[in-house]
Amino acid sequence: MPYEIIILRPGFYKKTAAGEGYDAACTITLLKGKYSIIVDPGSAWDTKFIISEILKHGLKPENINYVVGTHGHSDHIGNLNLFTQATHIVCHDISKDNVYFQHPFEEGVPYTIDGDVSIESTPGHTSQDVTVFVTSGDSNLGVVAVAGDIFENEHCLFDDDLWMGQSQFPKLQKKSRNAILKRADTIVPGHGAMFQVPASYKRMEETEYSISQKTS
Ligand SMILES: [Zn+2]
Repeated sequence: MPYEIIILRPGFYKKTAAGEGYDAACTITLLKGKYSIIVDPGSAWDTKFIISEILKHGLKPENINYVVGTHGHSDHIGNLNLFTQATHIVCHDISKDNVYFQHPFEEGVPYTIDGDVSIESTPGHTSQDVTVFVTSGDSNLGVVAVAGDIFENEHCLFDDDLWMGQSQFPKLQKKSRNAILKRADTIVPGHGAMFQVPASYKRMEETEYSISQKTS
């Protein structure tokens, strides 16, 4: 059963007017299909917003089956405690209630939720980023990668400074970006609107960055 991809909020990221920091909020995504899945439930200041947004789609926090945190930054994983009926997948950690599940993400093994949703290790922004690959019911979207901060926004395809500035492991992140670009038709980035992958990336050969860099 393919999924509906619902962007509850397109994220953003920009310098504050005073220049002392950044105004940032992450993209919050709801995947609705066999299961109800939230990817990156926002910051601690997004609690009321996320409750009211999922209600518009007929859901209460207790109806959510899975919550995914693409990485451990506070703007992305501030509302885990709303979703106490869900399995939580945060980076490479999987838990429900007080049970922790082992999964070999670091060996490249996908965590499969069902035939249309899998979660895979795509490190680089941090050492343990994950991306959710989901088959959309909308043929215009195709395979959608909800990729967190591996992609900041659409413009980072053409301006490496936009993602490298925040990258802990740039070479590794470049490799993850290339793998996602080859496989996905559409990308949901960590701090911007959903965008389509330009066709040229499908033909890209992975030569420039064959990585041997250690992640930690
Ligand atoms: Zn972020």
